[in-house]
Amino acid sequence: MPTVTVLVLGSANADLVVSVPRRPAGGETVLGGDTVVLPGGKGANTAVAAARLGASVAFVGAVGADQYGELLRRSLSESGVRTDFVRTSDRPTGLAYITVTPDGENSIVVAPGANSDLGVSDVDALTWDDVSVLVCSLEVPVPTVRHAVRAAAARGVRPVLNLSPVVDVPADTLALLDPLIVNEHEAASLASSFAGLLDLGPRSAVVTLGARGAAVVTPSGVVEVDAPEVSAVDTTGAGDAFAGALAFGLSSGSSLVEAARFAARVAALSVTAAGAQPSYPTSEDVRRTG
Ligand code: ATP
Repeated sequence: MPTVTVLVLGSANADLVVSVPRRPAGGETVLGGDTVVLPGGKGANTAVAAARLGASVAFVGAVGADQYGELLRRSLSESGVRTDFVRTSDRPTGLAYITVTPDGENSIVVAPGANSDLGVSDVDALTWDDVSVLVCSLEVPVPTVRHAVRAAAARGVRPVLNLSPVVDVPADTLALLDPLIVNEHEAASLASSFAGLLDLGPRSAVVTLGARGAAVVTPSGVVEVDAPEVSAVDTTGAGDAFAGALAFGLSSGSSLVEAARFAARVAALSVTAAGAQPSYPTSEDVRRTG
């Protein structure tokens, strides 16, 4: 396999999106618009974001032997993400059933399917030759993430974890992270201050702050980086764009603060267009708006 410098391990879901006039009550049926099927899942989004910027990325995940698995493989490949480590599982591809009401609010049911099946043997099958950064997110089993983070650290690969959604992660895994990424709400559920996140054990942490950018937390202090002011159209997948761009920056040799500053710009650009993956900018897009 040609050089891969960023491995992204996490979920791949097909998002089945339907507009409804209102949310159905228990036992009620509501007619909606046409279903729109979009590639998604935190892991796949992160991989696509990093690849669009020019990183050499492989995605580590599991999909089903169905049309949605095909859709996800295709969207990854078309963005330049290598799919050698995407396994076809006996379980169906993960699906997110998303209803959107006229006020723009989403209600989401996720059926994880094949994502639940991503196991430690998938991590054992990886090749790490030129990998410098591993980015994991949850929505896949914690023991698999733990195994991957340990395998990365043992090889001198920098482990990054986007702790989204927040679940219990063993202390021995948190201790290896550089950085732990959380959004503001996740940070508040974990610690009483940004600096307090380091008490959980990671070497560094990054807190994304929506329109306000992000905070980089290291033992030498907290540094805030701004997001450029943009007119927001759709913030779906902004956090995943941030994680992918941060991984790209780190794998290119940037410091954590530089990488976070770049990631805040990339994620801000991603909220100016609809959808998650379709909204992710290339390096050229970032330069043009620079
Ligand atoms: P999501 O769950 O929507 O994927 P998140 O809650 O994980 O996002 P946020 O902190 O909301 O993450 O956003 C991640 C990054 O996206 C921010 O650090 C910022 O760079 C960018 N961003 C999000 N919203 C805006 C906005 N309204 N204007 C500019 N940048 C934004």
